[in-house]
Amino acid sequence: ATPTSIMVGTGKGAEMGILFRQGQALQSLRDARVVALDKTGTLTEGRPELTDLVTAGMERRSLLPLIAAVESRSEHPIAEAIVRAAEQDGLEVPTPTEFEAVAGMGVTARVAGHLVQVGAARFMTQIGVDIDRFATESDRFADAAKTPLYAAVDGEPAAILAVADPIKASAPGALAALHQLGLRVAMITGDNRRTAEAIARQLGIDTVIAEVMPEGKVDALRGLQGDGSTVFVGDGINDAPALAQADVGIAIGTGTDIAIESADLVLISGDLSNLPNAIALSRATMRNIR
Ligand code: ADP
Ligand code: MG
Repeated sequence: ATPTSIMVGTGKGAEMGILFRQGQALQSLRDARVVALDKTGTLTEGRPELTDLVTAGMERRSLLPLIAAVESRSEHPIAEAIVRAAEQDGLEVPTPTEFEAVAGMGVTARVAGHLVQVGAARFMTQIGVDIDRFATESDRFADAAKTPLYAAVDGEPAAILAVADPIKASAPGALAALHQLGLRVAMITGDNRRTAEAIARQLGIDTVIAEVMPEGKVDALRGLQGDGSTVFVGDGINDAPALAQADVGIAIGTGTDIAIESADLVLISGDLSNLPNAIALSRATMRNIR
């Protein structure tokens, strides 16, 4: 391998907005067989909106402030969507106490004398709240690529909510280009399985690994590595271990610092078209060397 062609390749990458943090990455990328991507903030904008709230009987204007109060203490993008919706409705959001976040599950707090719990279906199962009455809505939301969430008040099911996070405009083209390059495409997400599958269908993703707990992403990635050299693309704090474990870790430049520091390569913009570009650049550069 001539250092000159590597330098030229790295320089070309930089011009395109592809930053190699590891010189080795330009070489390793050529051998990639699988590209695994995080969903939220990588394939999607990472800016969800609250689209639906179906209550078990309470009025929206009485319930949404309780839910938003709990979420006002959370930093999850879903939380921001819910707080924003309450503000847009012109509702006053009370101050919660005894707030607790359960990673990959949901949040809980006391609000105006009530115990309020908000999160995924698996969180409701864990705390013993029966959500069967919302089964129809849950499937309808998930099939529309929305994430269903639940709220319980004083241990009773109170509502199902849905948030939608738009797919990035650059995602379909980037994934089609990866397929054209002969790569298998996988998605790893903590989100609901049915929602993840709806998004995967829209994007033509080959393999979906859903409902992964934050600490489970590395194991999911190791499983894929059984089939060959695997690239992982992510943006979040949760993604850092998988970025380090991957044969090539690629961070989205708009993501968290810890993701960037754990990656071999950084795509400066949130635009995904540079993902196939980076692989094509690697192949072209290494062809010149051999
Ligand atoms: P992801 O980044 O893929 O959404 P997370 O591990 O952060 O993965 O979250 C997994 C799931 O846990 C979310 O899809 C959601 O259902 C639930 N969850 C996590 N945090 C919250 C929160 N603050 N409010 C409601 N639900 C939450
Ligand atoms: Mg993410």
